[in-house]
Amino acid sequence: MTAIKVDGLVGYVNPLQGTDSTSTFSRGNCLPLITMPYGMTSWTLQTSPVDSDRWPFSPHERKIQGIRATHMPSPWMGDYGHFNILPQTGRAILEAGCRASTYRPEESQIYPHFLSTYLRRYRVNVRMSPTERCAAFEFKFANDGLTRRIIFEPTKGNAHYELDGQLLKGYVRGNTGGVTANFALYFVAKFDKPVSTFSKFRAVPGRDQALITEGEGDRHGAFVEFEGGVDVVDMRVGTSFIGWEQAERNIDDEIGNASVDDLIVRGQSIWNDNLRRIEIDGATEDQTRTFYTCLYRAQLFPRVFHEKNANGSWHHYSPYDGKVHDGILYADNGFWDTYRTVYPLLSIINPERLAEILEGWVQTYREGGWFPQWASPGYRACMIGTHIDAVMADAVVKGIHQPDASGKGGFDVATALEGMRKHGANKGDADGNYGRLGIEPYMEIGYVPVGEGWGAETARTLDYAYDDFCVAQIETALGHTAEVEPLLKRAENYKLMYDADSGFMRGRNRDGSWVTPFSPTTWGGPYVEGGAWQSTWNVPHDPAGLIKLMGGAEKFTAKLDEFLTMEPVFDSGTYWSEIHEMTEMAAVDFGQYAHSNQPVHNVLYLYAAAGKPWRTEYWVRRILDELYSPDVQPGDEDNGEMSSWYVLSALGIYPLCAGRPEYVLGSPLFKKATVHLKDQKTFVVKANGNGESRPYVQSVTVDDERYSKLWITHKAITSGCTLTFDMGPEPATTRPLDADALPSSL
Ligand code: CA
Repeated sequence: MTAIKVDGLVGYVNPLQGTDSTSTFSRGNCLPLITMPYGMTSWTLQTSPVDSDRWPFSPHERKIQGIRATHMPSPWMGDYGHFNILPQTGRAILEAGCRASTYRPEESQIYPHFLSTYLRRYRVNVRMSPTERCAAFEFKFANDGLTRRIIFEPTKGNAHYELDGQLLKGYVRGNTGGVTANFALYFVAKFDKPVSTFSKFRAVPGRDQALITEGEGDRHGAFVEFEGGVDVVDMRVGTSFIGWEQAERNIDDEIGNASVDDLIVRGQSIWNDNLRRIEIDGATEDQTRTFYTCLYRAQLFPRVFHEKNANGSWHHYSPYDGKVHDGILYADNGFWDTYRTVYPLLSIINPERLAEILEGWVQTYREGGWFPQWASPGYRACMIGTHIDAVMADAVVKGIHQPDASGKGGFDVATALEGMRKHGANKGDADGNYGRLGIEPYMEIGYVPVGEGWGAETARTLDYAYDDFCVAQIETALGHTAEVEPLLKRAENYKLMYDADSGFMRGRNRDGSWVTPFSPTTWGGPYVEGGAWQSTWNVPHDPAGLIKLMGGAEKFTAKLDEFLTMEPVFDSGTYWSEIHEMTEMAAVDFGQYAHSNQPVHNVLYLYAAAGKPWRTEYWVRRILDELYSPDVQPGDEDNGEMSSWYVLSALGIYPLCAGRPEYVLGSPLFKKATVHLKDQKTFVVKANGNGESRPYVQSVTVDDERYSKLWITHKAITSGCTLTFDMGPEPATTRPLDADALPSSL
């Protein structure tokens, strides 16, 4: 098997990073996604006999059950519209575990733009390359005269198949919720050779026998066969959430007559264009691989959900009302995770894509009447808050909602604001699919009280206060001054959760008393995926207020020191068993700073807000160096959030508060990084004298002018400038700073 040549930055991307994960310990909980940026349908290998539905791939398994079309945004949300494709020779052995073929991972090539592997059991070379909604496959069989077979089978749900000459049509209904009853992922497979046999089956678990079935049924599979003399089968697969005709149109649009080789070249160029948005110099091989793998993961979600109609404009199936609508839609995003870093990074490297994505989110509100909390693909209840507020605010304060001079781009901010006002003042879904659980007491007494069954009450209050701040930024930007004051007043509700005696954000009863007993290391209860230690810092919009509340900068930073250096102990609290985030926190020595999960992701940058930027620099550099590698992520990657944290932090900037157009300065990792912006402009970050033992910033210049603030504006970055850090081995604790230098004074 000759290796396919890979050129450019995509060669540094390791889709296997983050895949060595289980439900009990996450090194990313990622899949090796073979896909175009934001592609509607992604492809992965299915190896796992343990939980093939949610954890289909393990790098330790050496057998492939199939190449899977997947839409899974996270194992915790599950997959939808997913099915496997496997080539086979000889007798029909159809059940996934029985049919699985050995492969050598070390001789396979798995890149974002193609897969090339050899299934030794069946002596077939497989090469495939994806487009946004389709993929081309080439199966090269050994000259052994055995029957050639291509098997199609979903992991779950009903499925149906028809053969029309050399065209196989199928649909699968498998999903994990968040869709309407008429949901199906339609696909067509076009073969370049005549099909000799077409059969349908339902596999019998653990056995190699199968029942031949008719019609639509649970986990129905199908296969096509080709005569033994046929040595190469080319197959083009189109997918669609709308129908077979649309799936065929997607093939015509995206593949046409292109071969797998053509698509590999095209896919390489697309990925390189997206990865070249940031070029780095002076990085080690490992750092380069980590950086570009993270930049790949930062550009996978949310997924496009729209398809091109016969007139060449977009339309889409709506998981919100089951109808086909004109326009664009995006899916697969958990805002509780992604608002922190994914969208702020996009606002710098790809504002055009960001505007389109946000127009897609506005469309969810138009179709469903509410913004989703965790779109997968439609309404799903998971985590808390209405952090679409932060996503929208971050874009609005950066002007992303405004079309350019030619009228292109932008998004419908007026409708977006309507949706945010709705969930910011009205009762949403009782099951938490949308809206704010506990909004009635929050509006009445300023916080969500414990004891009324809401759960995660303190965490919710902190999130709602921040979200109100974010909506206030939008109202301000749009000149709705009368709306601003009540929102900003509610943004201070975080103060109601702070118990000065214990020094933590704490659960509170309706009568104002604190919930007892209390321990800052107990998880769950009024918190979510953490305890008081992890949740107390969650006031991204008012670090100065938080510092004051906690007794001033000295006490605040002393508490941060304790947070980062104490033993990573925990009481599993209302989770009862040890959830994977606890295990991951305990696996490393960063105290209670549980970087494996999102709630703490802005905390290291709070040192800068309290006037001790060298502590930010020290800890951020350690996280970059110690917890990320070309092979692992620190914990659940979550739709690009963990990766975007790495990319931004490696650049030496971080959005301490999504919803504000500023970034805190950190500890840049590379000698030089060049961010390519709109209109040929560049944002260059230089780190003079950088090196492994030089994490500390000594002085900073912007375009060779001395710069004495610990933050930089979005406008300065996107106007194009050179930010130069002089790095040293010792903290610069007496560096002169401007009066308004601290990010707490933003
Ligand atoms: Ca997470």
